Amino acid sequence: MIDCVHGRRLVVAIDGPAGAGKSTIAGELARALGYVLLDTGALYRAVALAAQQQGVAWDDTEGVARLAVRLARADELRLEPAPHGVRVVLFGDDVGAAIRTAEMSMGASRVSAIPGVRAALLELQRATGRQGGVIAEGRDIGTVVFPSADVKFFVTASIEVRAERRCAELLARGERADLQSVRAEVIARDRQDSERSVAPLRHADDARLVDTSGRTVSDIVAELRRIVETAAR
Ligand code: C5P
Repeated sequence: MIDCVHGRRLVVAIDGPAGAGKSTIAGELARALGYVLLDTGALYRAVALAAQQQGVAWDDTEGVARLAVRLARADELRLEPAPHGVRVVLFGDDVGAAIRTAEMSMGASRVSAIPGVRAALLELQRATGRQGGVIAEGRDIGTVVFPSADVKFFVTASIEVRAERRCAELLARGERADLQSVRAEVIARDRQDSERSVAPLRHADDARLVDTSGRTVSDIVAELRRIVETAAR
């Protein structure tokens, strides 16, 4: 698709570990470019929430995979257009807030290691990116979901910085959190996400590395925006 002002509308992949600043950067970048933000972690979080609501244990591999397939097929889990992005709708409800807890972070990490869950969510993600003009953020965007993305970034930061950011985020949302336990949770999630056999978190060979430690959001977004706009010409 061609946009007269900004050139082609691209598919931009942003991957990286928890707390690296991916979501903030992806959101600001999408707004700056007038692109749709696709937060793929929200889908895994929604599957974890659905499993909890339906009494399916997160380690019941077959049960959770069956549930994910049913949710996607029956449109019970879907992405709807929202200002600047998509909203995640589960059983007809916008679950944007319910999926953001520390408990659902861990649940998402558990269910996302199940191959059947990942397969069930793939088409939902690809359908959103098909038209271009999308910033997709997650763990396997540049490697599995959109391996031919026009621009790929791998966003990371030191473990100290990531734990502090996650902790501040949870406190701002009114959740109880202390730095030590959040740090342990981030390390556990990193391990789970990087060591799983299917679509593990890894830096795609053709992704640009962006270390956000000690940098401001506006500085990083300005840099990424320049890169995307140059690629779109
Ligand atoms: O990005 P967010 O913290 O919302 O992701 C929650 C969890 O969902 C991650 O820890 C990861 O296990 C999983 N995830 C994934 N693949 C993606 C996005 C998220 O496995 N593309």
